[in-house]
Amino acid sequence: MLVLKGLSKVYDVGDMRVEALRSVDMAFRRSEFAAILGPSGCGKTTLLNLIGGLDQYTGGDLVISGKSTRHFTDRDWDTYRNHKVGFVFQSYNLIPHQTVLANVELALTLSGVSKQQRRKKAVEALKKVGLGDQLNKKPNQMSGGQMQRVAIARALVNDPEILLADEPTGALDSETSVQVMEILKEVARDRLVIMVTHNPELAQRYASRIIRLLDGRVVDDTNPCTEEELESEKADDQAVRKPSMSFLTALSLSFNNLLTKKTRTLLTAFAGSIGIIGIALILSISNGVQDYITRVQEDTLSSYPLQIEEDTVDMSAMLTTMMGSAYEKGEAHDMDRVYSGNVMSRMLNSMTATVTRNNLADFKAYLESGDSGVETLVTDIQYGYGTTLNIFSSDTQNGLVQVNPSQVFNESGLMSMMGTTMTDVMESNAMYSQTFDRMDVFEELLNNEELLDQQFDVLAGRMPKEKDELVVIVNKHNEISDYTLYALGLKDQSEVRTLTEQMMRGETLEMPQTSYTYDELLGLRYRLLLPTDYYSLDEKGRWQDRHGDAEYLYQKMQDALELKVVGVIRPKEDAVSTSAGTNGAVGYMSSLQTWAVEQVNASDVVRAQQADPEHDVFTGLPFAADGEKTEIDISQVPDLYKPFLVGKSSDEVKELVAAYVPEASNRTSDSTLARNLELLGVADLARPSSISIYARDFESKEKITDLIDAYNQQVGDESAIRYTDYVGLIMSSVTTIINAISYVLIAFVAISLVVSSIMIGIITYISVLERTKEIGILRAMGASKRDVARVFNAETLIVGFTAGVLGIGITLLLDVLASRIIYGLTNIHNLAVLPPMSGVVLVLISMLLTFIAGLIPSRIAARKDPVVALRTE
Ligand code: ADP
Ligand code: MG
Repeated sequence: MLVLKGLSKVYDVGDMRVEALRSVDMAFRRSEFAAILGPSGCGKTTLLNLIGGLDQYTGGDLVISGKSTRHFTDRDWDTYRNHKVGFVFQSYNLIPHQTVLANVELALTLSGVSKQQRRKKAVEALKKVGLGDQLNKKPNQMSGGQMQRVAIARALVNDPEILLADEPTGALDSETSVQVMEILKEVARDRLVIMVTHNPELAQRYASRIIRLLDGRVVDDTNPCTEEELESEKADDQAVRKPSMSFLTALSLSFNNLLTKKTRTLLTAFAGSIGIIGIALILSISNGVQDYITRVQEDTLSSYPLQIEEDTVDMSAMLTTMMGSAYEKGEAHDMDRVYSGNVMSRMLNSMTATVTRNNLADFKAYLESGDSGVETLVTDIQYGYGTTLNIFSSDTQNGLVQVNPSQVFNESGLMSMMGTTMTDVMESNAMYSQTFDRMDVFEELLNNEELLDQQFDVLAGRMPKEKDELVVIVNKHNEISDYTLYALGLKDQSEVRTLTEQMMRGETLEMPQTSYTYDELLGLRYRLLLPTDYYSLDEKGRWQDRHGDAEYLYQKMQDALELKVVGVIRPKEDAVSTSAGTNGAVGYMSSLQTWAVEQVNASDVVRAQQADPEHDVFTGLPFAADGEKTEIDISQVPDLYKPFLVGKSSDEVKELVAAYVPEASNRTSDSTLARNLELLGVADLARPSSISIYARDFESKEKITDLIDAYNQQVGDESAIRYTDYVGLIMSSVTTIINAISYVLIAFVAISLVVSSIMIGIITYISVLERTKEIGILRAMGASKRDVARVFNAETLIVGFTAGVLGIGITLLLDVLASRIIYGLTNIHNLAVLPPMSGVVLVLISMLLTFIAGLIPSRIAARKDPVVALRTE
């Protein structure tokens, strides 16, 4: 039962007041077919819109099922439209991008009917209007009459109490008009149908009641409600569920809409994705660069550890002093003569000032105590000991070939050419000892399996596990330098001398390339002679030096520890530099060094020397006390020898006597206990001669230096550790530069983000404009403002998602390309790599930003007046 009480509608357009309806009083029966006739502009559509709850009246009241609607909220009107009213429009108002079935289902979707129910009811409604076989057509594939029948089916699918039809036949020919009227008449049998028409004939033929309007007033009513009828139609208002659109419906609506304009959606998404591509590319490259830097750092740090020597020259302090003095002005003088600048003296002074001795024993104890927290900062800490590893080739065909310490330079004679003075000076210098170390082919491997696996490919065999196992390290091109080949005994070391001589004569050197199978390398065997192995006990109970005695050494070698090559490894393609193998070619385990130290300490000769610390085990003579000179009693020398001493200097005499008639004097040994122990290679495992700290990364390295500073503070000047941080000196500025670049990139990222989101917002707004009609239809069917907003939010999310995925996809392709190009230019691998997590996050960001950008347009859509929206073409 529908009652209009003085219903009026006034439109305010600027200064104009249009009274579209003027106090209409009327009542409609629960079931009848009312036709409204009247000239154009008399207020027919306005009346229908007010009854349908599409538009709000400005005066009077509309009583629905006995209930006034004066205080209806938006939601109440939505519910009313969705459940009680069905609309049929002259222009059909079907959603063009949805199928016939989907169009009909829409009203049910809004009221939250299950999918199966929805389909069943929709099919039923379509059958009722004779379109049971056209379910999957799109509206634009149908005739006008068919479309209007679809619209009727849609209006009926919810089984509304009221069907409102605004000129349903206005656009149809007479034949189809009749069909439509027949259907409406049928519908009106059990509900109220109010139809606006221009056609009095049709109204006369089909309607049960004709109402004539003129200038917003009812001028004629052929069958008004009587008082009795009003009383009897006491309505029982049933509570109905409020309609609401699920987000999934909103998604599918938007998705279908976007599908109808694939090209445009793709273009939009592509445009939106440009921002994402920019960001992703920047991220890829900065990630790649960061990765590369980390790699360089890690690899650099693993080949250039923080090295702390027992005797150290603080090179950085010295360099600073030198740099300072170079620029410093000396004493003031006129520019009239040439003056001396005393650079040398200053340099030498700074040198002596910076030579220190480190207490590495305490420092080692500290590092190993677990209190330092250094474990998390390092990949490995190597301790060096004075115990030399004398390694010989097992193959004695060419005599004894010592491969470590390397003898190649000794063989070449170059060392002697450099002159002793030079080498003496350099030997006291930490930097020299580092270079000198690097002449050796045998290197201690990092004690960090993980890092080694990360840096090396195993070409043959395996990584060493035991102390007597070695690996051969080839370079990235599967080569070993000829220097190494000589040092390893793979080539005859005596050739080197020949080569050097050739060079001296100015001849061109010819070196044919040689190659080795992996099996040949795996077959390499070496023997380790300990420093103590060079001494044997003679019948007088003294330990004799047998360094020059090849026969003896050959014998010794038979029961020396055999070292086997168990693997051939190569630095990985992307490793910048590696922990070993930069110059060296054979790696051994740190356990070999410790084993050697233990063996030496336990050897007979060392035990003997330690048991009798007063006497030199080599000569049996007592060690000289400080400042004591060797006394020679010439009278004790047998006459037989005396002629040999004539004309010799006193030093030479001393030497000769010591060598041939030691008993001739009560002389003391030239050696000291410390020197003898050093000669024998005795080392205390608790007191290393050098410590190499391999930091995990630059940050860790900085923390380690801080840690050492803190340690120095704690132990005081006496035990403070001094070292030269070469890597730090070189690389400290790099981090600053990287940070600066990162900030610039971040700024780019921010700009791209803003630009792309603004653009998506604009595009969404355009979409809102385009879909105004659809908004009207949705509202007419009971969609709430929120539902409409949802449709557009869903659309922006879809666009954002597509843009994100597209952007990431394109970026991945560009990354491959960029990496190739960069590799071609710089030989650096994979410099553009997008981290997967960033990809996911970027898609989410793209969705979030488009969502935010779409909020305003979607709100605009939600606010649209449904009547205005419906009128829009
Ligand atoms: P009909 O459907 O009978 O042709 P309408 O109900 O559409 O007439 O319009 C009735 C009157 O109200 C007309 O004078 C029309 O110009 C005016 N009108 C309708 N809608 C609006 C509106 N949104 N704003 C201003 N005036 C309107
Ligand atoms: Mg009209």
